[in-house]
Amino acid sequence: MPLEIVTVPCLSDNYAFLAHDPQTGQTAVIDAPEADPIIAALDARGWQADIVLITHHHWDHVEGLADICARFGSQVVGARSDAHRLPDLDIALDEGDTVQIGAQTGTVIDVSGHTVGHIAYHFPESAAVFTADSLMALGCGRVFEGTMEMMWSSLSKLAALPADTTVYSGHEYTEANARFAKTVDPDNPDLARRIADITDARAQGKATVPSSLKLELATNPFLRASDPGIRDHLGMKDATDEEVFAEVRGRKDRF
Ligand code: ZN
Ligand code: FE
Repeated sequence: MPLEIVTVPCLSDNYAFLAHDPQTGQTAVIDAPEADPIIAALDARGWQADIVLITHHHWDHVEGLADICARFGSQVVGARSDAHRLPDLDIALDEGDTVQIGAQTGTVIDVSGHTVGHIAYHFPESAAVFTADSLMALGCGRVFEGTMEMMWSSLSKLAALPADTTVYSGHEYTEANARFAKTVDPDNPDLARRIADITDARAQGKATVPSSLKLELATNPFLRASDPGIRDHLGMKDATDEEVFAEVRGRKDRF
């Protein structure tokens, strides 16, 4: 039985997620931007925050942690490599390690780039990956601490997951990402369709997260460094994928 996953809007544009294993009744919270909406979403369902999975150290992903732990006595999970600057961890994980939400097993993927020590959590039986500020809906996180090479390698790992995987990312940045995406991939009909859907969803106040990996592969310019249309548009026909990615990311920074 797959995890039941609930999206919880927090702060001005963050998302946290509840992941509930119906078989055992155990629930995880993925990232803790703000305690009140997360606790309200748990209470509304009669769920407990048995475990909190942290993706990276930025304040807008951990700020609500203390109040959630005070209420539920949650176990806190995060990257071993980031333990020195994360809140106290009960379980510290490296790439390839596994974590349980009840009967569901997740695998840790190192997705450094935005920060060094950013991790994603992949639950293959639920076809779900929690990516926070690495792969985002029609975007990717700004490369603050890592290198372009590191971020490209991280995105490539996520791109290699099964295409039917649902991508649970950390922010509602999709409309701004769409304005940028069409400047580097203007002739992509899948992108044009997606932008229309995004505009509709946002006009109705609906979230554009999560999204499907299949859709990201077809439309997200940060995953499409090998695409002939993008390469042609950027005048980078003979560049490596990593160079094309770095150019696209650099343009977004200046956009
Ligand atoms: Zn961040
Ligand atoms: Fe963030």
